Amino acid sequence: MKIKLLKNKHRLLVFIKQIKDYIFPIYCLDCNKEGDWLCEDCYKKLDLSGRFFCPVCHSPTEYGECCANCLEQSFLDKEIAILKYSEQEIIGKIIYNLKYNYAEDLEDLIKKIIIEFCQKNSSLFTEATEIVLVPLHKKRYAERGFNQAEIIAESLAEILSLPINKNLKRIRYTKQQAKLNKKERAENINEAFALLGKNISSTIILVDDVFTTGSTMQACAKVLKEKGVKKVIGFTLARG
Ligand SMILES: [Zn+2]
Ligand SMILES: [Zn+2]
Repeated sequence: MKIKLLKNKHRLLVFIKQIKDYIFPIYCLDCNKEGDWLCEDCYKKLDLSGRFFCPVCHSPTEYGECCANCLEQSFLDKEIAILKYSEQEIIGKIIYNLKYNYAEDLEDLIKKIIIEFCQKNSSLFTEATEIVLVPLHKKRYAERGFNQAEIIAESLAEILSLPINKNLKRIRYTKQQAKLNKKERAENINEAFALLGKNISSTIILVDDVFTTGSTMQACAKVLKEKGVKKVIGFTLARG
């Protein structure tokens, strides 16, 4: 009986997807072929080998750890990114559509990318016991309806079987970082976050969509360290 119900539910979901695809066809973000956000051929073009650089000076390090010269200026202990960010490349189009076209159903593609990366790099996250995501201000969350960092964090949490702690909040409404230079970004984001509650793990993974200068991630890591977190591992889908 249960199997029959599940089969019917599956048929219904397939049927709903067929109708949705008919009314709102999806085209590959790279080659425009109809069917998926990224067709199989274009997916194969993604380099998922990972981007491992010091979060401060951007010099290459083995697992994205902070280099010895920058240790004192960094609240992030590591920064692990999957793809090289470029506005014109596939990853730029994925993030643009996620942020500005409300394409929440890109989630499946993002999860596929994270699964493949984690299978090849499973040892990178073994010490972490909790996931924290870079929050949006509630006003921006209301405009957009979802937080792109949350979509990435949820996929990672499922793959690594780790809980998500959502107590990090954005307490100040800030200008969008993309339009600012490095110095302006650091000033803009300073004192923008706060961690509510007392319970937080000692080693956490901090998740965002893109790592550019690192000022947002550093501001979040600073708050976490002030509340007793010992190690913060940054994780982003892409890094500029
Ligand atoms: Zn394609
Ligand atoms: Zn460095």
